[in-house]
Amino acid sequence: MKIGFVGLGQMGLVMAPHLLRDDWRVTGHDLVRPDGLPPALGFTTGLADLATSDVIITMLPDGVIVTGVVDQLVDAGCQALFIDMSSSHPDDSRTLAQRLSNAGLEFVDAPVSGGVARARTAALTIMAGGSASAFTAALPILSCMGQPVHLGPAGCGHAMKALNNYVSAAGLIASFQALATAIDSGIRPDRFLEVINGSTGRNNTTEVKIDKFVLNRKFNSGFALALMEKDVSIAASLLADADHDGPVTAAVLAQLRAGLDALGDAADHTEIYRVVTGDLPDS
Ligand code: NAD
Repeated sequence: MKIGFVGLGQMGLVMAPHLLRDDWRVTGHDLVRPDGLPPALGFTTGLADLATSDVIITMLPDGVIVTGVVDQLVDAGCQALFIDMSSSHPDDSRTLAQRLSNAGLEFVDAPVSGGVARARTAALTIMAGGSASAFTAALPILSCMGQPVHLGPAGCGHAMKALNNYVSAAGLIASFQALATAIDSGIRPDRFLEVINGSTGRNNTTEVKIDKFVLNRKFNSGFALALMEKDVSIAASLLADADHDGPVTAAVLAQLRAGLDALGDAADHTEIYRVVTGDLPDS
């Protein structure tokens, strides 16, 4: 089986090597050749070189870029099963899935949660959308990178991913505010984590991110603030369409956007802590 893997950034670069199985040949594509490519992984800067692939996986910044890449491949005669593992807007995915279906091609949206650390150990949660036959075809491939869950037709995976990251972002901001306030009140950060992680306030930020990326001031989770803002924007539009949005939705989005204004597009999402505490770079 020939697999084309498009997008070898923070996530793609550590996901693609898991597909190097006995009789599978994997060729990566990105705009520039990334550092740290494993020798067994092929690479091309020419997207059309992937047109003969049996499977195309995309791990790109957003659904608009994914659609552009898929269109170019289909124009080049590509007949692959398309699997989009990026965090894309479900509307983009549904439109793309329908167009591919009209051309007799199958599509699965399969975004992931777990970040770079769980991508590296093939322990991602994979949220899949698509027809039963498309999901069955994608399952052996997805299973090499984590635990796939089939949620419904095309777009369901991307909707689930945006909603997950909305909850995650709300927890991140609330946890950072609580940590900063606890420190100001004379509570040691390690005691804050010990107590909150044994209590009802615990979440991924208190269990993982504060210790690994914030207290040591490394801010190097590998998930960009700009990508989190994109995910929460998608979630906000889904919540509004369903009439389930509210003040928390607007506040989380506003805080992420204020962070982007203050820190710039290259910031890691954990740097929001610097906005919460007023520890900003000199402008
Ligand atoms: P990234 O910015 O590190 O990587 C994206 C890659 O896509 C880059 O290498 C870029 O050069 C490439 N690219 C952009 N446009 C392209 C094009 N037209 N053709 C070919 N390559 C192109 O992003 P990432 O952190 O790896 O995230 C990828 C996707 O996964 C995003 O949708 C993100 O929201 C999602 N995601 C990221 C994480 C994380 O922890 N980083 C976790 C879960 C989901």
